[in-house]
Amino acid sequence: MPHRPPFSRILLKLSGEAFSDPSVKGGIDPTIVRQVAREVGQQASEGTQVGIVVGGGNIFRGNSPSATGMDRASADHMGMLATTINALALQDALEKANVETRVQTAIEMKEVAEPYIRRRALRHLEKGRVVIFAAGLGVPYFTTDTSAAQRALEIGAEAILKGTQVDGVYDKDPKHHADAVRYDEIDFLSVLNQGLQVMDSTAISLCMDNGLPIVVFELLREGNIGRVVRGEHVGTLVRPADLPA
Ligand code: UDP
Repeated sequence: MPHRPPFSRILLKLSGEAFSDPSVKGGIDPTIVRQVAREVGQQASEGTQVGIVVGGGNIFRGNSPSATGMDRASADHMGMLATTINALALQDALEKANVETRVQTAIEMKEVAEPYIRRRALRHLEKGRVVIFAAGLGVPYFTTDTSAAQRALEIGAEAILKGTQVDGVYDKDPKHHADAVRYDEIDFLSVLNQGLQVMDSTAISLCMDNGLPIVVFELLREGNIGRVVRGEHVGTLVRPADLPA
């Protein structure tokens, strides 16, 4: 049974890793991108408005070992360009699945994509187009998790859907601890206090201060995006703390 009404406008956060085969480090796996595109297309065709923020970690991160010795701002610019590569791969897959899309970049590259313009993004969403937000926030020292929180707030999304390789938030890393316990729900402050790996602290704080829930779920389980949109119990809901009685 659904436990809450379906979402009508969502912000899907796809990390760079979501684009690559988990058994291969990095790169873009076309089969995976097609699967994500199919599921996003299904939701869009059923009337859900979908914005997507893409990461770039499968290609380059500003704080990764390959950036050692580099100026951080330059390395971060490389990271933001990496997100644009993923955005174009996803746009292509969505269009092959007959889903109308627009890519908007936070760093202008007019020959490749539209610049990010909030009102235009809203108009696209209202017309049923999937909007892919690339190049993060366009400034160094930020992550695409924070970009996801920022864009979600700007477009008035009801929630961030954070697709990951595991099926929710655990009290410890389930890959290394057999006794790890998954939370059905958890509040923002507990995530911060316990240092749980949901999104970075800037992103969590932004969501917490603005009451924007996050659903962390397993991206590649067939049909999962739809389940989250419909309000079924999937993954972990990160939400504001209960108000005192
Ligand atoms: N980045 C940035 N500013 C932003 C968003 C991203 O400088 O607003 C850079 C940063 O170097 C980051 C890289 O882009 O490491 C890729 O983004 P991220 O690490 O968030 O990707 P993900 O972990 O989601 O794959």
